[in-house]
Amino acid sequence: MVEMPGLDEKLSDIYQEVLARNPGEMEFHQAIHEVFESLGPVLAKHTKYGDEAVLRRLCEPERQIIFRVSWVDDAGTVQINRGFRVEFNSALGPYKGGLRFHPSVYLGIVKFLGFEQTFKNALTGMPIGGAKGGSDFEPKGRSDAEVMRFCQAFMTELYRHIGEHTDVPAGDIGVAGRELGYLFGQYKRITNRYESGVLTGKGLTWGGSQVRTEATGYGTVYFTNEILKSRGESFDGQRVVVSGSGNVAIYAIEKVHQLGGTVVACSDSSGCVVDENGIDLEVLKDIKLRRRGRISEYASLRGGTVISTSNGSIWDVPCDIALPSATQNELNGRDAKALLTNGCRIVAEGANMPCTPEAVEVLTESGAVFAPGKAANAGGVATSALEMQQNASRDSWTFEHTESRLVEIMRGIHDSCLETAEEYGAPGNYSLGANIAGFTRVADAMIAQGVI
Ligand code: NDP
Repeated sequence: MVEMPGLDEKLSDIYQEVLARNPGEMEFHQAIHEVFESLGPVLAKHTKYGDEAVLRRLCEPERQIIFRVSWVDDAGTVQINRGFRVEFNSALGPYKGGLRFHPSVYLGIVKFLGFEQTFKNALTGMPIGGAKGGSDFEPKGRSDAEVMRFCQAFMTELYRHIGEHTDVPAGDIGVAGRELGYLFGQYKRITNRYESGVLTGKGLTWGGSQVRTEATGYGTVYFTNEILKSRGESFDGQRVVVSGSGNVAIYAIEKVHQLGGTVVACSDSSGCVVDENGIDLEVLKDIKLRRRGRISEYASLRGGTVISTSNGSIWDVPCDIALPSATQNELNGRDAKALLTNGCRIVAEGANMPCTPEAVEVLTESGAVFAPGKAANAGGVATSALEMQQNASRDSWTFEHTESRLVEIMRGIHDSCLETAEEYGAPGNYSLGANIAGFTRVADAMIAQGVI
């Protein structure tokens, strides 16, 4: 077999097997390669992982469910979509991970997200396994009634595979409070059970947790704050660029502003806006959360010196810190070089795998700090686990208490990445630290539970 760049012979063989077993699933290959690149030192130090075929087992999801979702649109036409749930790994707890509704969703995307989720959930130190799901359904442009009928049809199949002790979905791209409400309602109707712990990201009046909506964006900023603190700095006066303008981006912007930084640009899939005075969050929330509008409307509502462009790259905007928070592979090698040229020193991933491998290489080689999504954006799922705790005890915590738990968890993840990187001879390498720390927790639990 041909050895793969960055991988030793053993890892290269397993990677070739993964390629052959999962043809055409580019994002899944990329996610596995990125983790494998870090694992050489841990496999060399602990032979048990090789002996127990842990990696081979980890790369094969425990269960993959693909189903038809038929529903009727407002014009009375029958629409067919494809639904997915990939239950990746349950070594540490019930499967846990979001649902994504976006036309680009196919099995390879769901598998990449489920694989990442397994490591991310392990890093939180909480008792949750890894999963992901979704559909190629496009909610944009659909009426509320259509979204409701789609969610009901989706749950009519999904319900039989989930449960508070089995698999607990949440939101992701295209799935937030509205969709989770419709999904929960249908689950309850079918099962005749008010099983709060079956979904997270629920509304506050029906079993949701304070801070869950904000948690991924806030958590990414708290993680970045730990990076800054480790270098004797703070957010005060930092110029920040955040891509996207969805759930993660909006609350990342909010927390940066609260901590004294200024976010000068954000985006959506149709373009980006640059506001040198700092993104006005109320205007942004009004466009994106209340009216489901386009980012270009921001310029007309704010006026003044706001620049709106549909063909420039947000990564050309000068900044100290970049938080890619839209989607996978949105920041490539060229973008990374542009960021560095313009003075950026820290890139922390709010989205899952937004930086391409070339971008990560450019950033790492330049000495800039790169914080991978599986560590930096783990605050969302960690707060989902806090929601599960509250549901299990029929309790609800205050915003302040829940946020203080989130801060603690992000600090713990940050420190665990740094300590592991140091232990394995790569001080300051957050990717290596996150991959090894996540891997060893899952792998040790898999070994303890036998070959299953
Ligand atoms: P949302 O659907 O709320 O927002 C996604 C944002 O990204 C929108 O502004 C969207 O623009 C933009 N976007 C999507 N595709 C592209 C593209 N190809 N180019 C540029 N912009 C794009 O999703 P979330 O904020 O929830 O998720 C964002 C990322 O964070 C994803 O990678 C997700 O997996 C990850 N994540 C989310 C968590 C959560 O709790 N929600 C938890 C951990 C990670 P438009 O509206 O035009 O499509």
